[in-house]
Amino acid sequence: MHKSALIDWEKIRADFPILDQQVRDQPLIYFDNAATTQKPRAVIETLRNYYEHDNANVHRGLHELSSRATEAYERSRQRVAEFIGAESEEEIVFTRGTTESINLVAQAWGGKFLRPGNVVLLTEMEHHSNLVPWQLIAEKTGAELRFVPVRDDGTLALEKLSSLLTKEVKMFAFTHISNSLGTINPVTELCARARAIGALTLVDLAQSIGHIPVNVRELGCDLAAFSGHKMAGPTGIGVLYGRREILEAIPPWQGGGEMITSVTLQKTTFKRSPHRFEAGTPDIAGAIGLAAAIDYLERIGRADIFQHDSRLTSYAMERLTEIPSLRLLGPPAPRGALVGFVMAAAHPHDLTTFADQRGLALRGGHHCNQPLMRRFGLPGTTRASFYFYNTLEEIDRMVEILRDAVHFFA
Ligand code: PLP
Repeated sequence: MHKSALIDWEKIRADFPILDQQVRDQPLIYFDNAATTQKPRAVIETLRNYYEHDNANVHRGLHELSSRATEAYERSRQRVAEFIGAESEEEIVFTRGTTESINLVAQAWGGKFLRPGNVVLLTEMEHHSNLVPWQLIAEKTGAELRFVPVRDDGTLALEKLSSLLTKEVKMFAFTHISNSLGTINPVTELCARARAIGALTLVDLAQSIGHIPVNVRELGCDLAAFSGHKMAGPTGIGVLYGRREILEAIPPWQGGGEMITSVTLQKTTFKRSPHRFEAGTPDIAGAIGLAAAIDYLERIGRADIFQHDSRLTSYAMERLTEIPSLRLLGPPAPRGALVGFVMAAAHPHDLTTFADQRGLALRGGHHCNQPLMRRFGLPGTTRASFYFYNTLEEIDRMVEILRDAVHFFA
């Protein structure tokens, strides 16, 4: 028996006050965790405590509260560095989230280094946030975008990689876990292949960081992005990780306070990274809340979280195949903690509304994966995404609701 089977998951669930409520006279079932996760009391209380006792602006003040806020903010940076296996806290830039982190790299790195004829390699399964920023900078610089195709089973067509990963490729940016298919990509292998031809790598960790152990040095990536709110932390805070020499070579992307060493009317000199990338007052409370989320997740352990998530996902996949006319997308296990499916008779939006009327929060639509949906010839899917506070009983109830939907929409 795996150790995760011995953990009292019910007790852990009780750490999330929001889950204890009725929605439309039914107990809430929250299966929209790939969009955002719920927050444990430990994170909520950390935020409250910060605002009740320590709130002040960071870095610029010479008073007690400002010192406390600055120390807590910078301690959070260290905590993030430890959590992802970075070499030092100087490799951690706080941003608003995955989207902003990728935009920073596309605009600032791409703006400096991309030339006509250069290639940015992506995959067909990227979230819009790892596609649109590259389209914007490709248009400005004359660089070209290429894509690793997705096979029918939802995995990347790796046999095509050699012909795609040519010397024109300067950046290979791809997701760790697909937010629609659940596919776990072989990040270490992909990074090694890119490195062999001198391309940089950026990994979108949005769907993996809170769910499986992630160590950026073991993955061998140059850059990585994630959001606090998908790992039990607050919204509004995220991270860009970059190897130190890579970040040092990237110019600032936004100007303002905090990021300068000296300013004259005509010219400014900038701080080193990461502060050079954090213009203006940062999300101080968010960073501190993110560190609290990390403490919380590490008390449970991400290996155990993955085991538990996997048990939920495998069970959901098995039970969903019992429903006639329902088709599952994506590869078999091991996979991310989500299941995307289509029901022949019901549009994903109608099915999601039907579920909501019974207290079940699913997500229906293109999931910011329009090209991927087009690849599968679908307008969208319905997605159930899990986290460690979800239960097998909730999955049974979802299956019951979906069975009712089959009759309702027939
Ligand atoms: N990348 C993936 C794989 C995602 O699933 C998401 C959000 O759903 C994002 C990026 C964007 O994250 P955020 O909206 O927090 O910036």
